[in-house]
Amino acid sequence: MQGYIIDIKPVKDDDLIVSILTEHEVMTTYRFYGARHSNINLGYKIDFELENTRSTIPRLKDVIQLGFPWILDNEKMYCWQRYIKLFYPHLKDIEGIDAFYFYCLENLVHVMIKQNALRAICESYISLLEYEGRLHSDLECLICENIINEDVSLVRGFLPVHATCTHSKAFEINKMRDLFEKKKVINFNDEEVEYLWDILLQGL
Ligand SMILES: [Zn+2]
Repeated sequence: MQGYIIDIKPVKDDDLIVSILTEHEVMTTYRFYGARHSNINLGYKIDFELENTRSTIPRLKDVIQLGFPWILDNEKMYCWQRYIKLFYPHLKDIEGIDAFYFYCLENLVHVMIKQNALRAICESYISLLEYEGRLHSDLECLICENIINEDVSLVRGFLPVHATCTHSKAFEINKMRDLFEKKKVINFNDEEVEYLWDILLQGL
């Protein structure tokens, strides 16, 4: 089986509880310290086997790390790990996960070979919001429920609000339309992309 490690929790004696997003579910597995022969880290893609034990959590074994072309790029890896970590609270209690999430990450790994990490992640997140039906391209303000015709800002989940309703950073409306319709951040400067990134980090 293959999947992405989206959460790691240390337990007794240096053992780990490792949560893995596979094509169809989030698997919670137990990693014994003594069995640690291959590197395990948040965000890694791994090939693995599960072994059922008397415990309710299957044991993770035969782990092989599947590399990305940019795995040694610290900056990309850091952004990747912060993003992928958000998938755990977002998906952990859902039974039977649509393959969309796994392939969204597969695609992002590929896009990040060439594209700036923050830009690639923001664009990928927009497609996730669209998939979940949470992309508010009608640009109606969450606070006052009126349509936004000029300066627009965003809150958690990229929900649009009037910049004046939240006293937060204003974006040109056309830029935001482009983001929501074309799913591209090409018109956003680096500082604006970092602002989007900070909102994204509040949670998927
Ligand atoms: Zn408003």
